[in-house]
Amino acid sequence: MYDVIVVGAGLHGCSAALHLAMRGKSVLMIEKNAAGRHASGVNAGGVRRLGRHPAEIPLSVESLEMWHRIESLVDNDCGFHASGQVKIAENDAEMAALEKRSATVRSLGFDHEEVIDRDELFRLCPSAAEHCVGGLVSRRDGFANPYRTTWSFRQKAVALGVTLQEGVRVRGIDRVGDRWEVATSIGRFEAETLVNCAGAWGDQLAAMMGDIVPLSPEAPMMMVTAPVPHFLDPVVGLAGRPLSFKQGANGTVVIGGGHLGVADRDAETTTLNFEKLKLSARTVVDVFPHMRDVPIVRCWSGIEGVMPDQIPVIGPSRNAPNAFHAFGFSAHGFQMGPIVGRLTSELIVDGETPMPIDAFRVDRFNTVDGAADS
Ligand SMILES: Cc1cc2nc3c(=O)[nH]c(=O)nc-3n(C[C@H](O)[C@H](O)[C@H](O)COP(=O)(O)OP(=O)(O)OC[C@H]3O[C@@H](n4cnc5c(N)ncnc54)[C@H](O)[C@@H]3O)c2cc1C
Repeated sequence: MYDVIVVGAGLHGCSAALHLAMRGKSVLMIEKNAAGRHASGVNAGGVRRLGRHPAEIPLSVESLEMWHRIESLVDNDCGFHASGQVKIAENDAEMAALEKRSATVRSLGFDHEEVIDRDELFRLCPSAAEHCVGGLVSRRDGFANPYRTTWSFRQKAVALGVTLQEGVRVRGIDRVGDRWEVATSIGRFEAETLVNCAGAWGDQLAAMMGDIVPLSPEAPMMMVTAPVPHFLDPVVGLAGRPLSFKQGANGTVVIGGGHLGVADRDAETTTLNFEKLKLSARTVVDVFPHMRDVPIVRCWSGIEGVMPDQIPVIGPSRNAPNAFHAFGFSAHGFQMGPIVGRLTSELIVDGETPMPIDAFRVDRFNTVDGAADS
C-alpha cells in the first residue's frame, strides 16, 4: 500500500513523484515504457514564458524561477541555459501584433515580454535576414536538455524513495473502500491517491476516473543540422510562421516549432511529413539565409496530447475522490514540469495550492448534458 500512485514517468510524473517524496509521501510511479521515452525525452527543450496563454503565465513564471535553481532541486543543471527567447516580426503588421501582446501581458501584471526594435534584434541575432523589423524578447528564458532533465528528476525521485516500475502498463483502476486498486500488466497495487501524468494517453486514464476529455494525440516534428560556427545565442521563434530555432553548444541547430507528422499512439509510433519539414527548412533559410547549405542530419517526432484550447488539464478529478490530473500539455509542457509537480504535491498534501489553476479544470469541456464538447 502506497500513499500515492503516479501513472506515467515523463517529466510531469517524475516531478510530481519527486515533490511528493520531498513532502514525505510513499510513492509508486508506473511507466509502460521507460522514463522519458515519450514527449519528455524527445522535445525541443524550450524553456519559455514568451507567448504563453494568459492562464499559463503565472505557472510559467514561477516554473522559470525553479529552472534558474534547477540544480538545487535535482542535483543536475539539466543543460539549462538562460539564453533568452526572441520572437521576430518580419513586417510592420506582425510588429504591431507583438506590441499589443506585450501590452496585454503587462496589463496582467507581468513584464517579461519586452518589445525590441530592429537595432536590438540585430544585436541579439546578428545574422537574421535584412527584412526583419523587430521583435519581442523574454530575456531570462532559455533552453535545456530534455532527456537529461527527465532523467535527473527520475533519479532524484528514486533517490528520495520513490518506487519506479518501468515496462508496466496500467490497465484499470477500482475504488475499493477508501483506497485505489490499480490493475497493471504485472498485478495489482494499492494507494490512497492517484495521479494521472499519462501524457498523450491522459484521456484514457481520465476516462477510468469518469472524466471524459477531448484530447488529440499529435506528432510535433524536429530537425537537427550538422554543426556550424557559433552565430546565435537566444532561442528564436517567428511572430507570423511556425518556427522554433536554437543553436546548441556543439554548434548544431535544432529546428522545430509546430509542423506535425502523424501520431499512432496505440502503436506508439510516429510518421514524419517531409513536405512540412521542407517548409520548416525553407522558413529557416528565409530568416537566416546563411543556413542555406547546411545539411540536416536527423529528423524525429514525439507523441504529445493536445487539448482543444491548447492548455493542459491540471487539478482534481471531478468524478473520483483522491485522484488528480496533469496531462495534455499541448506541445509546451516541458517548461512547466517543475511547477506542476510541485503544485500537484500541494494539492495532495495541503489540499490546496496558491497557484491559479481553475482554467485547467478537467470538466471545462463538458456541455450541460455532461458530454465532452470537442
Ligand atoms: C517534438 C516535441 C517538441 C516539444 N518542444 C517543447 C518545447 O520546446 N518546450 C516545451 O515546453 N514543451 C515542448 N514539448 C512538449 C513537452 O515535451 C510535453 O508537454 C511534456 O514533455 C509532457 O510531459 P508528460 O510527462 O505530460 O508526458 P510524457 O513525457 O508523454 O509522459 C507520459 C508517460 O505516461 C506513460 N503512460 C501513458 N499511459 C500509461 C499507462 N496506461 N500505464 C503506464 N504508463 C503510461 C507514457 O508511456 C509516457 O512515458 C514538445 C513536445 C514534442 C513531442
